[in-house]
Amino acid sequence: MLTRRQKIERFLAFLFPVQLVIFHFLSKNQDWIENIYIPYIFRYLTLPLRFTLGWLNVSLGLILFYVLLIFFLAKGSRAVIQIIRKRHGFNIKNTLIKGLGYLSIFYGIFMVFWGFAYHRRPYQATRGVNTANINTPELEALCLRLAHLAKHYRQQLPAIRSTPTNFNSVFKRAPLGYQHLSKTAPELTVDVPSLKLGFNKKIMSYLNISGIYFPFTAEANLNEILPAFQAPFVTCHEMAHQFGFASEEEANYIAYLACMHHPNPDFRYAANHWLLYTSLQALKNADEEKYLTVYSRIDKEIIGDQSYAEDLWQKYDNPIPYFTGNILFDLFLKANDQPAGINSYNLAVELMVGEYRKNGLRFEKSIPQ
Ligand SMILES: [Zn+2]
Repeated sequence: MLTRRQKIERFLAFLFPVQLVIFHFLSKNQDWIENIYIPYIFRYLTLPLRFTLGWLNVSLGLILFYVLLIFFLAKGSRAVIQIIRKRHGFNIKNTLIKGLGYLSIFYGIFMVFWGFAYHRRPYQATRGVNTANINTPELEALCLRLAHLAKHYRQQLPAIRSTPTNFNSVFKRAPLGYQHLSKTAPELTVDVPSLKLGFNKKIMSYLNISGIYFPFTAEANLNEILPAFQAPFVTCHEMAHQFGFASEEEANYIAYLACMHHPNPDFRYAANHWLLYTSLQALKNADEEKYLTVYSRIDKEIIGDQSYAEDLWQKYDNPIPYFTGNILFDLFLKANDQPAGINSYNLAVELMVGEYRKNGLRFEKSIPQ
């Protein structure tokens, strides 16, 4: 005779394959995702969360994340110990049903709050950028243009490396870029941002996290160690996730557009600096010689900023991010229809080449200085 609890556990476990089938079909329907899921389900689930939690200084999402991590690790290791000891009364079937029940709840909530956002229509179609047949000279031209823009804005910020990051100011000003951008991209209209410092900077740094969007609380969490020349860009990246853009490469591209529509030079510099180094890596992979030529032309202050940022992270160097960041996150992205996995970060460069083809990265006209 099954207890009431066992019946619920069985029902939840049964729901797991049912959800897999339903969500699989829904995730293939991009019209449903763009016209129903994003504007109604995602938006109206996250809006009240951002509205209520956005005022709090504490990052509930990351605290919840650590609690869940400890909970699942504790439950998992207890089950493993019981299997090893073959304890009397331990029933492997019941444990599996229970585990599947937990997974079923987590999976259902995850898909409704965030999972479908990984299956959106590519943003390049909405933005109208062409990323077909990119060649090395175009990549080289993009790097040179980014280096030029980065130098131009860096000269307006002579003390930025030694200035401590004022996150309050960054969070307050970040929506401005999106406000200007949304005149031509209404899908990026800011309603209620929820931006905060993540809990806690050491844990985040050891996990190699600059910023993280936590879907169950809709909070964008920033790592406090970010220098003033990176924080504006990472903030705009996390805001892109709040509009329902799950893809990392699209979030980087959208953040670049938002920063370039921002009237302040620190936002513009942060975006050009970040995308310059991402694009340089792509050029290095394509043609090392051309990379060295371009690199020799980069302003010394820009290179100094990059070394400064690398030194900051070096203190927290450890093997955990390789496991969590490379192996687990890679599997996670691939399971969510992001076939390039963590390498998809580099696909932002393709979108940037597309943007460069379109307008040569010239946005100034519509932006008040
Ligand atoms: Zn991201």
